[in-house]
Amino acid sequence: MSHLELRKLPSVDRLLQEPAAQAARGAYGHELTAQALREALDAARQAILAEGRPAPSPGALLEEMAQRLRAATEPTLQPVINATGVIVHTNLGRAPLSDEARAAMQAAGGGYSNLEYDLEAGQRGSRYVHAVDLLRRLTGAEDALVVNNNAAAVLLCLTALARGREVVISRGQLVEIGGGFRIPEVMAVSGARLVEVGTTNRTHLRDYQEAIRPETAALLRVHASNFRQIGFTAQVSLADLVALGREHGLPVIDDLGSGTLLDTRPFGLAYEPRVQDSVQAGATLVTFSGDKLLGGPQAGLIVGAADAIARLRKHPLTRALRVDKVTLAGLAATLGHYLRGQALEKIPVWRMIAARPEDLARRAEAWAARLQALGVAATTWAGESTVGGGSLPGETLPTRLLALPGLPAEALARRLRRGRPAVVGRIVEDALCLDPRTVLPDQDDALVAAVAAAVNGMNTDEQ
Ligand SMILES: *Cc1c(COP(=O)(O)O)cnc(C)c1O
Repeated sequence: MSHLELRKLPSVDRLLQEPAAQAARGAYGHELTAQALREALDAARQAILAEGRPAPSPGALLEEMAQRLRAATEPTLQPVINATGVIVHTNLGRAPLSDEARAAMQAAGGGYSNLEYDLEAGQRGSRYVHAVDLLRRLTGAEDALVVNNNAAAVLLCLTALARGREVVISRGQLVEIGGGFRIPEVMAVSGARLVEVGTTNRTHLRDYQEAIRPETAALLRVHASNFRQIGFTAQVSLADLVALGREHGLPVIDDLGSGTLLDTRPFGLAYEPRVQDSVQAGATLVTFSGDKLLGGPQAGLIVGAADAIARLRKHPLTRALRVDKVTLAGLAATLGHYLRGQALEKIPVWRMIAARPEDLARRAEAWAARLQALGVAATTWAGESTVGGGSLPGETLPTRLLALPGLPAEALARRLRRGRPAVVGRIVEDALCLDPRTVLPDQDDALVAAVAAAVNGMNTDEQ
């Protein structure tokens, strides 16, 4: 029986003559198409022998070929509509970029540039000059350096300044950021020895003072990022650490994590340390991320004293952690928005932070009305967005959510994740909710269509 079925299977060569296979060869090339047909035939043979299934028709084999070709060539990195209300969402790629940053990155990526070429002198230049002036103007620092990300920035600072020696840090700041970035482990990799002082909840200036000895190379402060200390707590101010460092001739490294150039308080958020405040307080080196509250591409920014930055620039590790031309172009364009005082209008992260509650409500209600017209029982609820990205833990911004109560939230969420584009929302009180704050302005139509398709798909499956 199975022998008869096996003999019904056509050959690869025979299938390659079919119009569908000819079209696939045009789109994917001969090799990939033939491979997909071999795989489809192998799968059919398996099904016949192992499960006693009948041989599929040539049409079914060609359909299987087309599916395999699509799966093999579809990029795994796909656009996602972020309806979670978490603005700097690390798993969803952190900061979306401004139009100007994207244009600059496209131009840098598609052609040659003076990345490491001095056009005036007609000779080799340095890639590290490109964001320096902008960063100096914006932060007041003497000099600046850009590397791959903030984890790299911290690693570089510790390696260049403290390898084989000791770095003093408060026990309240030995944080794990997520994605495996743990301060004690980074210090171990850098070759600097960790000297923990104080207790989990309280560290005093005298704790640092008592830890300083000839082996000490630096004092390190790390932003708590994703947790908040409340109750009986104390940390030493940066200004006091700087004064202590000066007394002993020790550099102070300040890892701000997100860092921000703008004041977060006018938006109803707590104070998030500004980079320029750390520079002003006298930190030797300040490190922060390019793609958290700054709202640019992934990068690690280091600003600070000229002699310390010069040491970093000369260190061999800098070459290994170096930043790409496309990133530099996007970063410079993003910093340009701050310099011109246009960050709030141009940078998506700040537009989202500054979004007015009445505008968010109007958008959520418009989505609900359009979905109701399509037969979906949508409504709107008051809710809360968050900044995310290891900044402002526990702080929220009031928003208006599109809510889909009465539908199985987990199943609906799964359907939305599997759609194209994928939509990621949040479950509140057993209902799937979508927050307009983090949905880009040109994604409204796609979002409404995706929700309607997902809900209708569920209703059809249930029948
Ligand atoms: C996020 C964060 C980092 C890591 O920054 P990346 O740019 O993601 O490498 C390091 N330190 C702190 C305090 C952070 O919050």
